[in-house]
Amino acid sequence: MKVYKFGGASVKDAGGVKNLYSVLNKTGIKNTLVVVSAMGKTTNALEKVIESYFANKTKTPPELLQIKAYHFEIIEGLFTINKKEVIDDVQALFDELQDFLKYNKAPNYSFVYDQVVSFGELISTTIIHHFLTAQGIFNFWLDARECVKTDDYYRAANLDWENTQNLIKNAVAGKEVVITQGFIGSNANNFTTTLGREGSDYSAAIFAYALNADSVTIWKDVPGVLNGDPRVFSNTQLLHQISYREAIELAFYGASVIHPKTLQPLQRKEIPLYVRSFEKPEAAGTSVSKGKPLVPHVPCFIVKKDQVLIQLSSIDFSFIVEENISYIFNLLHEYQMPVELIQNSAISFSVCVSNKYKRLEELVLVLRSRFNVEVIENVDLFTIRHFDEKAVKSIHQKGKKILLEQRTQETAQFVLSDTE
Ligand code: ADP
Ligand code: ASP
Ligand code: MG
Repeated sequence: MKVYKFGGASVKDAGGVKNLYSVLNKTGIKNTLVVVSAMGKTTNALEKVIESYFANKTKTPPELLQIKAYHFEIIEGLFTINKKEVIDDVQALFDELQDFLKYNKAPNYSFVYDQVVSFGELISTTIIHHFLTAQGIFNFWLDARECVKTDDYYRAANLDWENTQNLIKNAVAGKEVVITQGFIGSNANNFTTTLGREGSDYSAAIFAYALNADSVTIWKDVPGVLNGDPRVFSNTQLLHQISYREAIELAFYGASVIHPKTLQPLQRKEIPLYVRSFEKPEAAGTSVSKGKPLVPHVPCFIVKKDQVLIQLSSIDFSFIVEENISYIFNLLHEYQMPVELIQNSAISFSVCVSNKYKRLEELVLVLRSRFNVEVIENVDLFTIRHFDEKAVKSIHQKGKKILLEQRTQETAQFVLSDTE
């Protein structure tokens, strides 16, 4: 079996869904499990629904009507006859979502979040299931929540590998074409959970791992993995071949083309990963596999925006050593600040973090009781893998103030202020 993953951008309108069908047709439809995300920016829109719901629980969130109109427009663009079944199924999902919002009594934001955002994937796969059926492709719609089992950590649930593997194997056995959702799963009490934003790539890897799949292909709006995000860097080049290790490093440093968790399950079973263009399915794209050298061997650029640089120094000129550092790290963990970069000297310690959960102020307050603290917000963290002097120069030439620079053998990193 092979696993395909189509992200939101690939199915953002009726043309996208038709293209998904054409990609399947061109590349061989048999023995394929297709993981699909929510259409276009539906997850973002559902996040707005949740915000409106918490602001006023008695009113139907206005964004919900727009989401509904968007999906029914896509249905209009896909089906001319035999619309009833798809309309009924999609309507039933919207009714279920509205009922949830009407009757829910649980105050937990993250719980509500997962129960609501998961409808994006349920709706998209329902439409695609019916569309493929209408094209004469018999396909099985699998509710991923029946087999992707997780803990209760809503919004970033951790997988129960043992159960998940068995359930996936059983659910998929004997099926030729399966359509299922990325991003979603369920906990031991069968409440819906999600695997974290952009988690559909990871779902594809989970299914591939359980099924010992021959390969995973993620179909993107780019030709493959490039040596930089084309939205940020100009003259990017396609990486034809990279190793799992390189892909993990790139994803870890923030190359958002692959979700960082995707690579680990695949490399454990040496399942090759292909990143290809859904606009040019005949092109080979990028192949990610074990121990392969980077081809072409070029510097790779990654930027993480909106970071925070926290610079600490000791109040009494005492050294910042193990005890202080472990205290700082415990606080960073407690205040849920993912650490992107650290640098220390005898009496100072700098750390670049993401203020993901908006807890910076609380953290800084605690730090000030023990250190002199300087905080610089809105900084950009640039990483260059396989840097050379020309690549480093291109960062210096941006004309922005370099607040911190760090080099190891393979990787150079720069924290740049957003002012010139
Ligand atoms: P999906 O539709 O699967 O969710 P994403 O939008 O998450 O797709 O990922 C594709 C996007 O990733 C591209 O449009 C591109 O802007 C961005 N991207 C970031 N880094 C890279 C890179 N190194 N190579 C290719 N694309 C990249
Ligand atoms: N729909 C989810 C998101 O937008 C998961 C994904 O697309 O990977 O985050
Ligand atoms: Mg994505």
